Amino acid sequence: MKKIDMHSHFFPPIGREDAARLDAAQAPWLQIDSGGETGNIMMGDRSFRPVREALWNPAARLEELDRVGVAAQIICATPIMFGYRYEARAAAEWAARMNDLALEHCAYRPARLKALAQVPLQDVELACIEASRARKAGHVGVQIGNHLGARDLDDEHLVEFLTHCANEAIPVLVHPWDMMTDGRMKQWMLPWLVAMPAETQLGILSLILSGAFERIPRSLKLAFAHGGGSFAFLLGRVDNAWRCRDIVRKDCPRPPSEYVDRFYVDSAVFDQRALRLLVEVMGAERVMLGSDHPFPLGEQQIGAMLAESDWLDEQQRGRISAGNAATFFDIDITL
Ligand SMILES: [Zn+2]
Repeated sequence: MKKIDMHSHFFPPIGREDAARLDAAQAPWLQIDSGGETGNIMMGDRSFRPVREALWNPAARLEELDRVGVAAQIICATPIMFGYRYEARAAAEWAARMNDLALEHCAYRPARLKALAQVPLQDVELACIEASRARKAGHVGVQIGNHLGARDLDDEHLVEFLTHCANEAIPVLVHPWDMMTDGRMKQWMLPWLVAMPAETQLGILSLILSGAFERIPRSLKLAFAHGGGSFAFLLGRVDNAWRCRDIVRKDCPRPPSEYVDRFYVDSAVFDQRALRLLVEVMGAERVMLGSDHPFPLGEQQIGAMLAESDWLDEQQRGRISAGNAATFFDIDITL
């Protein structure tokens, strides 16, 4: 089974002084332990997350990919790198620097490592400029967060950005970040377990129920991480609400389930039954292997869940494991 993993992360080996150019107190930087194999993503003096070498060292990444038979992997920023809350020009400079570092990472094995760019989403003009620049420089698409503070994907500026990506044939991966919490999710990684899937569902529903999908060109290649979060499991609930309440359907002319052909999802759901539901809801042509490697909440044996999915036929499995991503990101599948 050929595997293209379209959802993985990197963090560049930038030190504290480098990050301080953006923000001395809060900008993320990488602390590498003396052995070189582990470290921490830091914010100021505080550890944000313990990490391992594959995150920043392409040789270590390739070794891990070889171990699990992944032919190609698409890397993107760790969401803490987005920089959306900074002044737009500073954020644009930061994004360009991170994007150049992502390409440097991929240059180790350019046929097998591809990158998605980040953009200064708080300024639609600068975001479009960086998306186009990165595309020309070699990025195979962009990754954006699912919201900007109180603005969701149906915000007119974000719709403008998505339309720009459609017009320039730049694929977009939407990743949840900055999870909703009112203080009740302090422990046990609850923001990642409860709020993250809801954030992704919120991103999808904001595009559907606002009618934004009616305005965004159909040519937009759009994907959502983590199997679309809570979306597939709760689609029946949303359709029922659309049928029964006029305030749900007031901006959305068609039943929500009719919009599933407007986007893709990755396969990172970690349960065979969930994957089966996801494929039934989205169709095998709209699910792509994605692992969230090399983080602890990612699939440790990339593609193992898919390899064990005996309810899929060979053709479906091949599309999910590599074919769909090859088409979506325009990657040479013969590698
Ligand atoms: Zn991720």
